[in-house]
Amino acid sequence: MPDRKPDVAVVPCASYDPALCRAALEALIEKAGGLDWVRPGMRIGVKANLVAAMGPDAAATTHPALVKALVDIIKERGASPVVGDSPGGLYNAVFLNRVYAASGMNGAGVPLNHDYSTREIELPEAKLCKSATVTGWLLDCDGIINFAKLKSHGMMGLSAAAKNLFGSIPGTMKPEYHFRFPNPADFADMLVDLDEFWKPRLHLVDAVAAMEGNGPTAGSPKAVGCLLAGENPHRIDLLCAKLIGLEPGTVPTLRAAQARGLCPETPEELSIDGPWQDFVTEGFEIITERNGLQFQALMGGGKTGERFSRFAGRLIAARPTVEKALCVGCRKCEQICPAKAITMKNKRPSVDRKACIRCFCCQEFCPKGAMKVKRPPLARLLEK
Ligand code: SF4
Ligand code: SF4
Repeated sequence: MPDRKPDVAVVPCASYDPALCRAALEALIEKAGGLDWVRPGMRIGVKANLVAAMGPDAAATTHPALVKALVDIIKERGASPVVGDSPGGLYNAVFLNRVYAASGMNGAGVPLNHDYSTREIELPEAKLCKSATVTGWLLDCDGIINFAKLKSHGMMGLSAAAKNLFGSIPGTMKPEYHFRFPNPADFADMLVDLDEFWKPRLHLVDAVAAMEGNGPTAGSPKAVGCLLAGENPHRIDLLCAKLIGLEPGTVPTLRAAQARGLCPETPEELSIDGPWQDFVTEGFEIITERNGLQFQALMGGGKTGERFSRFAGRLIAARPTVEKALCVGCRKCEQICPAKAITMKNKRPSVDRKACIRCFCCQEFCPKGAMKVKRPPLARLLEK
């Protein structure tokens, strides 16, 4: 084991073959500093990404072969792992059992969370989110391992280690958090607050098959071929952004973490153990835009920068747009919209642009991938 732990450990993993996953995960954990902190009798929470009732081949969820390998490693240390998440929607046995079955977790033989209690917590150190309602099962763990999936994301640009802890908010409460923090920069600060509160002992990212395009649920699988690990989620995310060609300045959680001194500005400042250059993936389709944050930087920050970024952000903001040919009129988007900005007209959703807070919950939870994140023509022009 190296004297000093790297910011990010990277190992190749070309497929979800169980033996390969086990070997790759062992090598990764060793590089990242090992699991000596996992002691017999401990209860270890494995916070997977189980965003929706989707199969492993869709690349929306952490792959069950990797979760199984991790669970086995934890058990061999005499500890008791428990795997869980709270996707958007109801936080109860019926809903979660559907997600567990579809994501392959049931069949993988991993111990799944069945405690659907929620609790109020205080976060005195938080910058923005001083109190929260969270899933009880994670509070009862002696240590947490965050096992995320690498995906493009409508609202946050990137879903990897930092974003995954939003799954500690019960699904039924998530719209309220979007409403409380409608601005992506504030939402990102809330996520960083959650990351700092939970402080998982280890963050892992499944980037064997990532999701590109209309993520986090309706994009397409894209082979990246590696696993990443580290103790700081933002440093891992900075490297993830580099791998998929995403400008770090467009990722609100990275900006928020950098402002708090939790993450360097560029991937070149990271200490990385592993052949990460082999996994830089050309042509990875991302949902990004020249957003308000970049305009703020252009104007040198401060109040003027803030005002200009708000103005420019509105003009060029990406919007949820219905692809009518794919829509089946199921009304899920209307039901999930925290701003009540969606009404059904002629059995198809219509979005009130003024009311929309751009949380992209409708895009995330549309079962048909019919709600797309689209940039207005001006934004596309600016990107040229
Ligand atoms: S959730 Fe998707 S399929 Fe259902 S009404 Fe909305 S856009 Fe159409
Ligand atoms: S329309 Fe979609 S993006 Fe806009 S507030 Fe509603 S759920 Fe969020």
